Amino acid sequence: MGKYIFVTGGVVSSVGKGTVAASIGRILAVRGLRVNFVKIDPYVNVDAGTLNPFSHGEVFVTDDGGETDLDLGWYERFLDITTSRESNITTGQIYSEVIAKERRGDYLGQCVQIVPHVTDEIKRRIRKAAAGDVDAVVVEVGGTVGDIESQPFLEAVRQMRLEEGFENTLFVHVALVLTLKATGEFKTKALQHSVNTMRSIGIQPDIIVARSDRPIDEAARRKVALFGTLPERAVFSSYDVEYVYEVPMILERQGMGEYIIQRLGLGPAQPDWTEWMRVLDMYSKAAHKVRIAVCGKYTQLADSYVSIKEALQHAGIHAGARAEIDWIGTELFEKDPDSIGMLSSYDGILVPGGFGKRGTEGMIECIKFSRVNDIPFLGICFGLQLSVVEFARNVCGLHDAASTELNPETPHPVIDLLPEQRGMERLGGTMRLGSLPIHVKEGTLAHRLYRRSIIHQRHRHRYEVNPDYWPILQEKGLIFSGFSPDGRRVEIIENPGNSFFLATQYHPEYLSRPNRPEPAYHGFVKAALERKLGHVKMSSPQLVDIDP
Ligand code: GLN
Repeated sequence: MGKYIFVTGGVVSSVGKGTVAASIGRILAVRGLRVNFVKIDPYVNVDAGTLNPFSHGEVFVTDDGGETDLDLGWYERFLDITTSRESNITTGQIYSEVIAKERRGDYLGQCVQIVPHVTDEIKRRIRKAAAGDVDAVVVEVGGTVGDIESQPFLEAVRQMRLEEGFENTLFVHVALVLTLKATGEFKTKALQHSVNTMRSIGIQPDIIVARSDRPIDEAARRKVALFGTLPERAVFSSYDVEYVYEVPMILERQGMGEYIIQRLGLGPAQPDWTEWMRVLDMYSKAAHKVRIAVCGKYTQLADSYVSIKEALQHAGIHAGARAEIDWIGTELFEKDPDSIGMLSSYDGILVPGGFGKRGTEGMIECIKFSRVNDIPFLGICFGLQLSVVEFARNVCGLHDAASTELNPETPHPVIDLLPEQRGMERLGGTMRLGSLPIHVKEGTLAHRLYRRSIIHQRHRHRYEVNPDYWPILQEKGLIFSGFSPDGRRVEIIENPGNSFFLATQYHPEYLSRPNRPEPAYHGFVKAALERKLGHVKMSSPQLVDIDP
């Protein structure tokens, strides 16, 4: 029988509940236990695909084409697993299902209500995640307790304690503890209030994780235990760390693993942290620094490109360097064209995925700058499309070339809608999505990186390189090194005139893991490091000793 670990949040959102949930998963996984995850997002959107990454962070794409919450990315990276769209439950999905059932007449004349019909649908979906070979499901309830939106979900998980039993359910409450700067004192009152809110809806936490900037002291721990009605050993301190992958170890050192497996009857099991420690060790030993400029649009919120940030860091430590990333809003280069020169202080330039026109002329200037000055370049999705636009304009002489996403009237639509996207009226869930095979051409940089002819990568796009322009782009020297299996779609481009210039129509960052960097990112960061160290000859870089 699968166990359920419910993770709730208190005081404020964005305190790293996802990291704690993923860490709990890792703590169980190193004991040989099989863990699955559910992230509950109480918003009414059916999925994250229609949310602005600037307000809500990156959209994480799963193998099966789900456009999901970025916390699924933490679960995948922390446990080296593949999640699915079913790991992300939203209010939108629950209500769509309940209303569809009501319209079909499935409720046979009953009055359809939040309790039991909505809560039953929530429980059904959570239980689905426990089916099969799963020892424990970590269920992270998004938002903070007390939010109107999360009430039906908290009611559903409260009921699950009754139905599944005390020994099969565990409530972990993650809440902020404030530190007074002047005195260094820990203030737990807000945390106490959030625990009271939990109790008022009928849930007594079994574990409290006090989230603070520094490790809490014994007095604060005692206070949290006393007011939380918990033994002190059920109170854990999670604090700011330099490298996020340290969090599972921090919790483990305080005894979280032992506590959870005893409480849920999952033990005894000896943890094996070897692989994890290898990653932490690599991080601490990374002797170099590489400076990477990520030139995009949603640069005010670090979470907008979180998988890219992590992929650069994974690649960095495997190349022996820490990646120092600057997020640069490219509108700057449109307003002040001379400022583009600032990019010469970077070892690598990355143009990430994106949508819409804002900032794109600036992105095209960044691409031109890296091509002309031979600064290692990686383009992701939109980054590939804009690289083709740049090449068409400045190398092929097609001066007004554009993507029809940016200019529907362009005389040279070098990037155009995928044929199946024409006439598409609904925006939600209709892009070319999820994991698809790609044929990688031998003798190319891409093949040297991936060292195989077929790879699988995750996609999220509506536009592609227009086949009418393949001949001129190739004649002028652009290499198409990856294609869809039918040969109709360009998946990877490279410019052999440069030391390292690669762009992918897919999003390789979703497959990057701390213990297994993604080859395109690894090649890019390695090229950036080699440039920095002055070994600029890289037309045939020595790369990748790791399987994708
Ligand atoms: N806007 C582009 C498209 O829809 C690129 C998408 C992306 O970068 N994910 O094809």
